[in-house]
Amino acid sequence: MSRVRVRFAPSPTGFLHLGGARTALFNWLLARKMQGTFILRVEDTDARRSSQEMAEGIMEGLRWLGLDWDQGPFYQSQRLDLYREAAQRTFAGNHAYACFCPPEDIQARSADSRSAGRIWRDHGCRNRASHLARSRVEAGESHTLRFRVPADRRIVFRDRVYGKVSLFTDNIEDFTLLRSDGTPTYHLSVVADDWEMGISHVIRGADHLSNTPKQILLHEALGNQAPGYAHLPLILGPDKKRLSKRNGAESVLEYRDHGFLPEALCNYLALLGWSPGDDRELFSDCELVKSFDLGRVNKANAVFDRRKLDWMNSRYLASANSHDLARHLQPFLERSGDRQDRGNDGRLIPVITLLKSRLNRLSDFPEMAVPFLTDDFDYESKAVSRHFSLADPKERSRLRRWLETLADEYEQLEEFNLETVEAVLRGTAKDSGFKIGAFFGAVRVALTGRTAAPGIFDVIATLGRQRVVERLARCLKLLQ
Ligand code: GLU
Repeated sequence: MSRVRVRFAPSPTGFLHLGGARTALFNWLLARKMQGTFILRVEDTDARRSSQEMAEGIMEGLRWLGLDWDQGPFYQSQRLDLYREAAQRTFAGNHAYACFCPPEDIQARSADSRSAGRIWRDHGCRNRASHLARSRVEAGESHTLRFRVPADRRIVFRDRVYGKVSLFTDNIEDFTLLRSDGTPTYHLSVVADDWEMGISHVIRGADHLSNTPKQILLHEALGNQAPGYAHLPLILGPDKKRLSKRNGAESVLEYRDHGFLPEALCNYLALLGWSPGDDRELFSDCELVKSFDLGRVNKANAVFDRRKLDWMNSRYLASANSHDLARHLQPFLERSGDRQDRGNDGRLIPVITLLKSRLNRLSDFPEMAVPFLTDDFDYESKAVSRHFSLADPKERSRLRRWLETLADEYEQLEEFNLETVEAVLRGTAKDSGFKIGAFFGAVRVALTGRTAAPGIFDVIATLGRQRVVERLARCLKLLQ
């Protein structure tokens, strides 16, 4: 069995944004490629800022993206004993000490030292004899538990993306493990969990790079072997600032609601920081899994390019299976007020096939599909005046005659298919003496009410004989 065990560890304090989704995706890709295990761990120890609702939203986003997890969700709030036990072990091994200073004091003194370019260590508490500290703890005095960062050491680790990283411990503050209310901090819970869950690779955003030396020290103090680390480059917005709500980062579920396909978003996210080493850009899920390689993640910041995502989405829409698209389209059809259950409507699939290469988003579909899904549509006035020669009664009646001829021809046509409808339309256009483009344009408006529509032969074949004939007849009235 593969030794690869990775985790996605979101804090349920906000939505699943693109950065988090990319972290989840890279973990998932490695797990799937190496037949390893992908674990979902909800880091909800900050009870004030976390909520179950956010956790549910994050999971909904992961499910929508197809990033299925093998174990979990594990909630850190339900694993507090594990963290307290780890804290006790560091304390017992003298790797941690009880600090009795009021938190405001600590904050002020750390800030002062930092601005003077030093790291502050609370020598009072750090150096207090352990039996004295213990008796104050036992007497119930309020305290935090702080890690005793060893002096004068260099922490060196090999990040799979950033290469060799080294940090002198004199630059690391004695960080808190347990708060005064006994709750664990992020560093403690992450280290205890990564160890207990047997995590082989920690893959997370580069914003956690600076946390890693602390976590390695803590693993060491607990007698654990630290996992491998791979930090993913930051994602910047078009303004080269960190991607945020202000410069384009919506939650993953908003992308869903705006009409993106999950496969397109995954494909796009995969290329934010990773490249296959050649110029391929479009990958099926399987190809992504096969091609993915942690060694090809680069450390240069990735820039979010909305236009490229739009382009990718349109490519995915064009090549998607129409039945799959029908499923994705259901909520958009419902939202547009289309009350029919199109899932069972034989008409929907051919219309999807007709229109999918013209869609940028799923949300474009309901409007584009109106003339194909219903007979009750309006003629765009611009299209009518441009194509029906309204100003010239003679031309108008000539057009009327030829549209009538076309309707007759279609009515009598033995087989009504793409080839035969094309031959008839071309023949009628030629006989009519109208310019071919002008005649096709008029037929398009007659059949759909608009100028922008797919290729006219496809439109005719998709609508079918009966509707084509009816619509031409309806249009003749308009031309009278
Ligand atoms: N809970 C952390 C976050 O949401 C992730 C911690 C980690 O991956 O180590 O940023």
